[in-house]
Amino acid sequence: MTACRLMVLDGITPASDNTRAGQTEGAAVIDFRCAKCGELLSVPSSLVGEMEYCPSCLHLNRVPQVPGTAGFVPPMPREGAVVEFGKSSSPRYREAVQMATARPICDTWGEGKTLRHRAVFDSLLDALDLWRFVARWKSSRLYVDGAEVSDIELKRRLWEYEPATERQREFADNLGLMYPADITKAQMSGLLDQAPASVGQKAWADKLGVAYPANATRGQMSQLIDEHIDLFGYPDEDEDHAYSQQTGQGKTGCLLVALMLAAVTVALVQWAS
Ligand SMILES: [Zn+2]
Repeated sequence: MTACRLMVLDGITPASDNTRAGQTEGAAVIDFRCAKCGELLSVPSSLVGEMEYCPSCLHLNRVPQVPGTAGFVPPMPREGAVVEFGKSSSPRYREAVQMATARPICDTWGEGKTLRHRAVFDSLLDALDLWRFVARWKSSRLYVDGAEVSDIELKRRLWEYEPATERQREFADNLGLMYPADITKAQMSGLLDQAPASVGQKAWADKLGVAYPANATRGQMSQLIDEHIDLFGYPDEDEDHAYSQQTGQGKTGCLLVALMLAAVTVALVQWAS
């Protein structure tokens, strides 16, 4: 430890004021000022993030990150979508780099195996063209508002952008609902939830013995019915299934219940429309 520190100390030389980072002859260096005495220090860029002694006052300084030097990683933007990828042997790598560097904000850092490109986009939708290009590469990452987005999360988010289906539109038209032409599937789903509960839903609720307000919406009604089924199961459910569901041990029973639930939901949707 002491020996290591001494070696590092020997490597530090006070820098002249007109020396700029990365422009000294030989290896890249980082110039920074000692936080205690203000001495201008010059260290190899490989020491970024390390604690180093000031040769004048022996204060311990952390070697700061300086753009353009080894070890520097630009901070992740807090807003917008980010596509990040490393060097790839793919024939599409060149094109991906061109797409990335065409962005107003694009960072490239590291070298060889640590080389990274990061392109910043206003929104996830804007980032998709480049992301689809690089998504299969091991080094590729997608971030939205500073957080990494997994494949599953991406699918869920994209679903929210999908346009409403013909079936949804027909359904909304039958109910006399007004909606913008470019309404999404998720928005339409929310809109339909606000419509009054259907005759079919009410009949199903009556059969199950679910109490509901006279002006219940479709969304409220599905929730009430779901809650009731979660608590009491289906009216014609046999005891084995009920037992499995309660203990959570009978996987076959749970699967059957899940299938029944799916079937009833489909039936309910068809009935309601
Ligand atoms: Zn000092």
